[in-house]
Amino acid sequence: MWDEAVTGYDFGPGHPMDPVRLALTMRLIESYGLHREVDVVAAKSAGDSTLRLVHRQDYVDAVRRVSAEPGAADGTYGLGTVDDPAFAGMHEASALIAGQSVGAAEAVWRGEALHAVNFTGGLHHAMPGGASGFCVYNDAALAVARLLELGARRVAYVDVDVHHGDGVQAAFWEDPRVLTISLHEHPSTLFPQTGWPQETGADGAEGSAVNVALPAGTGDEGWLRAFHAVVPELLAAFRPDVLVTQHGADTHFEDPLAHLAVSLDAQRMVAESCHALAHEHAGGRWVALGGGGYAVVDVVPRTWTHLVGIAAGRAVPPESPVPDEWRHEVYRRTRESAPARMTDGRAPGWRDFVESGYDPADRLDQAILATRRAVFPAHGLLPLP
Ligand SMILES: [Zn+2]
Repeated sequence: MWDEAVTGYDFGPGHPMDPVRLALTMRLIESYGLHREVDVVAAKSAGDSTLRLVHRQDYVDAVRRVSAEPGAADGTYGLGTVDDPAFAGMHEASALIAGQSVGAAEAVWRGEALHAVNFTGGLHHAMPGGASGFCVYNDAALAVARLLELGARRVAYVDVDVHHGDGVQAAFWEDPRVLTISLHEHPSTLFPQTGWPQETGADGAEGSAVNVALPAGTGDEGWLRAFHAVVPELLAAFRPDVLVTQHGADTHFEDPLAHLAVSLDAQRMVAESCHALAHEHAGGRWVALGGGGYAVVDVVPRTWTHLVGIAAGRAVPPESPVPDEWRHEVYRRTRESAPARMTDGRAPGWRDFVESGYDPADRLDQAILATRRAVFPAHGLLPLP
């Protein structure tokens, strides 16, 4: 999914979510020729009836008002805050991004595409009645809601952004048809300070919300160990009709806003695992979204180009040199020097939680166990390996 106008989602100079990250990602995808391997589609903007699948009309109306008159934003509905300053065209740009995720969901549900990627989406903090954490409309929740409306019986959402996928969790808190799994830095050290393992869903939807709260400083091996200790077993038990994944790139060690220490190589491996899991447990139906990521030159374009390559069935080899034309474009637009290769030079392995045994004194294993104890029984699974 791509429409150049998504770069109008711009909170202004100095804001970490610089839309150059989206443009540079698309240019890198093009410089590898991946855009010729897939259908590049621009979906329509999400209209009010679509936005209302998740959002309140009074909130949509408020976004429209500040979009027309940004100076009038006073912080109500989370609009006009430091994180979410109002800007001209805010409604249009946000609805366009939301429309790309909804369009991705529709294409996958209707069988027009087996996999669809909207790396401009994944705006997982937006709430039904308010903006939050750089997110205006929750395109991820809208994609899931649209899948349910089209007839999906069960949808699984896996969010590996460094921040808790709180808005998506909130949207489906009471809905047992949606399994939300979020792996993120621990709420005691990072926005939005939610995503504790004990958050497991409302009565009637017990175990439908899953949270893995990773200690600050977790690196590749720990991140991969946690992903594989929680996600595959739950997806196998839940048997979703569609898998929706959110690939925020802000887990990276260079990211300026968070404190995990994950490499591009581990991010690519998790994208490959999501792809494989969609085939194993969701008939191959896979909607992949972007998310956070504030190392806008070094990290975001490379990790989402890998994501698109994986979804396209033409994975970019990690050792590939980054094309010179793209490096020139980076310099022209940012005056920064671009990374030279599609790898951080790591080949991370991980010890399997079930096979290797666990260490009750290890903080990562404690986090994994807390999550498994909180939700595995609700899915008929044993928390201890
Ligand atoms: Zn994030």
